[in-house]
Amino acid sequence: MKREALFPLLAGRAGILIIFFAAFVSAQQSFLYSVSYSTDSPARLKVSISAAQPLKSPAAFVIPRAIPSGYGLQLYDRFVMNFRAYSPSGKALAVVRAEDGPRWNVADAENGVSKVVYEVDLDRLESEVLSAADQSIARSGYVGLLGYSVFGYIDGYQDHPINLNVNGPEDWPVFTTLAPKYLPDKGRAEASAADFFELADSQVLMGPDLEIFRLDTKPASFIALYSETETNFSQHSTVFARAFEKVVNYFGDAPFDFYTAHIQILKPKSELHRYGFSMEHSKSGTFYLGLDRAYTKETPEAEFVRDELNFIHHIAHSWIPKKVYGKGYLPFTWELPPLIDTVWFNEGFARFAMIEIRADSMPADEGKAWRERYLSSLREYVESQPAFIRDMPLQELSRIGSVMYSEDFRTGRTLFSKGALMADEIDRLIRERTNGKKRLRDSLRAMVNWGVENKRPFALEELPGLIAKPVGVKESDVREVMERWLATGPGR
Ligand SMILES: [Zn+2]
Repeated sequence: MKREALFPLLAGRAGILIIFFAAFVSAQQSFLYSVSYSTDSPARLKVSISAAQPLKSPAAFVIPRAIPSGYGLQLYDRFVMNFRAYSPSGKALAVVRAEDGPRWNVADAENGVSKVVYEVDLDRLESEVLSAADQSIARSGYVGLLGYSVFGYIDGYQDHPINLNVNGPEDWPVFTTLAPKYLPDKGRAEASAADFFELADSQVLMGPDLEIFRLDTKPASFIALYSETETNFSQHSTVFARAFEKVVNYFGDAPFDFYTAHIQILKPKSELHRYGFSMEHSKSGTFYLGLDRAYTKETPEAEFVRDELNFIHHIAHSWIPKKVYGKGYLPFTWELPPLIDTVWFNEGFARFAMIEIRADSMPADEGKAWRERYLSSLREYVESQPAFIRDMPLQELSRIGSVMYSEDFRTGRTLFSKGALMADEIDRLIRERTNGKKRLRDSLRAMVNWGVENKRPFALEELPGLIAKPVGVKESDVREVMERWLATGPGR
């Protein structure tokens, strides 16, 4: 809701005025998130959340257990300690930790709740979350925080604007992906987010061991890199920039004003910890890698190509699904991973975009051959799966994959493989029907615009039309391909 739009309406009768005044007041609720990190207690992050106006009791504070595009459960509430709530006069209020679920209920607050404070045990978080992609970490000269792993919200206020204040050790540069700077301020950073999703989807980084590059791409992009072994910083920038420009060109326009690639190259915390995973965010990507991904003089070109593809894939997610998505993806349910019918679209169509982007950048024959090889490998993977996964209707597999995508990667890989193969078949149909004048890329561009304008998920029934109309092919033809893949895949 825009504040200005309400003013002309306030000139009406008193009753109307009161109604609109109430709406105005409610629209004005906002939150100040203050984050403090000190080397005096290096494993602890302190967070305080102040409401601009006291919140009505009972209020429930929630810490995420799900990550957008995480397709699994991640119990970040385990690492929250010393949770407290305060009234507007500063009185400590009784808080009851919910027996099940990631909630803290503030009960005895007749005068409202104006502030909650808590700490996050970063050491336990890194020890117990075994996938590097989902971790926040603290080192002697560096801290890297994933928003959703340390920030929570008051239930019902996820859509309200947020100001973020970060305080770090006074001589440490502090960087936030919400407002990236090539030369970050020392000891502090400030930013704002439209809502909790934007805050949770961002990252906060700080410390003398953090390297920042600003790349002269359009739009501007940043590399924020922390490495526990020697690596060739400028080579990471070169590989990233190559990927970034190709993705922006493919989609024709960028849905963000700036982008940050946050790269961590880490020594393993334990034998159980897994590295090499990346995660997309709306205007950043987190690439949390093991020591084997550092660049040395011996690193072969094939490694750069692999990393470029990884960048392309995750950058492409800023368009698909961040801007165009099916039901269940947004609004996001932070307490439980949402059941999504269209993970094959999120992951498969984004992978198809990656395949095209890479193939387009090669000499035509080479690109065509590479694309065919890549698609064949997806086909082979699907064929090699046990029948109950291989032949499971795609929506059903998608629901399963939306909660265990990487735990049982057969679900994840089958989903993105079938999704990309479906996209390829639709692409061939469009090229054929338009004598090569149009391709699926043109539909995807239009669909991103549709998503930006409509800000709602597409219904599955709408998808063939959204693909077919912008390129002038018959909706029923696209529907036929889609329905065949949704059933069990071709030839079954
Ligand atoms: Zn992906």
